Amino acid sequence: MDRSVLDTCRAELQRQQDELMAGAEKTVSDMTSVAEENFPDPTDRALLESNRNFTLRLRDRDRKLLVKIQEAIKRIENGMFGICDGCGGEIEEKRLIARPVTTLCIDCKTVAEEEEVR
Ligand SMILES: [Zn+2]
Repeated sequence: MDRSVLDTCRAELQRQQDELMAGAEKTVSDMTSVAEENFPDPTDRALLESNRNFTLRLRDRDRKLLVKIQEAIKRIENGMFGICDGCGGEIEEKRLIARPVTTLCIDCKTVAEEEEVR
């Protein structure tokens, strides 16, 4: 694979990782400050709970993405980056640049999505 494509993908993965880390820290400090506040009104408390559930869901999604990002960085380091998990072929460079965490070429991705629908 082209060296510049690898560098572009690595930089993008790094950027996304930094962004997620910053977001995760913010979420934790938000939750802490909210927990320290006192809500005597049950309506306020219900609202607080639903907000917290939303935050937790976001964090769960972010955590999964973070794992994918770190795996992609690992693949760059061990030379496996851009190899399709499905067929072992090369993933299109355009696709990797647009979404560096991808592990499937477009053909395998299409098949996987069709199977998901079924
Ligand atoms: Zn494939």
